[in-house]
Amino acid sequence: MALPHCTDLQFRPALTQMKPYAPGEQPPPGKFIKLNTNENPFPPPPAVVRAITEAANGPLNRYPDPLATSFRRAAAEALGLPGPEWVLAGNGSDEILTLLVRGFVGESQSLRLPTPSYILYRTLADIQGAKWEQVAFTEDWQLPAEFRQPREDLRLVLLPNPNSPSGTVVPPSEIESIADSLTCPLVVDEAYADFAEENCLDLVQRHERILVTRTLSKSYALAGVRFGFLVAQPHVIAELTKIKDSYNCDAISIAAATAAMQSQTWLADVVTSVNCTRARLETELAGLGFDVVPSHANFVWCTHPSGEHRAIYEFLKANQILVRYMDFGDWGDGLRISVGTDDQIDACLLMIQRALAKLTT
Ligand SMILES: *Cc1c(COP(=O)(O)O)cnc(C)c1O
Repeated sequence: MALPHCTDLQFRPALTQMKPYAPGEQPPPGKFIKLNTNENPFPPPPAVVRAITEAANGPLNRYPDPLATSFRRAAAEALGLPGPEWVLAGNGSDEILTLLVRGFVGESQSLRLPTPSYILYRTLADIQGAKWEQVAFTEDWQLPAEFRQPREDLRLVLLPNPNSPSGTVVPPSEIESIADSLTCPLVVDEAYADFAEENCLDLVQRHERILVTRTLSKSYALAGVRFGFLVAQPHVIAELTKIKDSYNCDAISIAAATAAMQSQTWLADVVTSVNCTRARLETELAGLGFDVVPSHANFVWCTHPSGEHRAIYEFLKANQILVRYMDFGDWGDGLRISVGTDDQIDACLLMIQRALAKLTT
């Protein structure tokens, strides 16, 4: 459908010129085996479901705690942070990323991101009327020296770690040295860190310019609830608190997120299970001739020598399996497959095998 054209309304030029961000397909439940947006295939912790029910029976006529104090306490405790003042709660980590860009990057200043990576950052820069600069990963997913180059108008550098779509990690020691080279803050987007061996939380205590974002959407199986948070030094949290909506998190999501942080045993079990299925997916894809990048997240990036990535994606979709086809222009394209249950991954592998038989003979 063509959008109606409004000639009389004076939107900011930054807005009329920008391309909207396109999130992954979200079809109605039940139609597809859904392996396209890195959700957790398991239901959330039982304590979360109980907390939501309790909150639903609570005082919903009252505004929620604007600072989500119960959540921040639980997060500080679970993550071994000095205290709740190191945590800022948000309506998904996407909101946290919005606050960071709004807080640090002014009109015509710039932010830096790697590519191939999470392109939402570009949209956030566009909304601000800011510029973005992409630095390409090397072919083996290393960051080139350019990534750490300081620059006068550079106000924020964003790095998903583990990265999406590759699932690769930059070790914390390298992150620290990148932050030392830069003169602006470095946001480490740790949406997938629970699936990796290492993370940058300890670095935050030593560096005011290292800011870590987390989400409950992936490892805690709560994409439908919308909750994410920032870990940074208390004075950084205090500044950013000024620009958030007063009630950015609702009473039900705060209750859910608090219970999630108190479910660390559940988390450890689910991560073990997902990582075990991930290893199997990697091995079997390699057996089907794919080049597979060893992943530290809950998805696997793979390319096939036939180059038939789009056709494989289409074949899978026609057979009710949704994976993510991604095209990064000159960098090339490939498939990102989220780690589902063992049964879902078996079904996906079988269908990939059929696609290859059909496409390569
Ligand atoms: C999924 C994802 C997020 C978004 O998380 P929400 O909390 O659901 O907004 C942020 N960053 C990266 C790299 C992601 O893949």
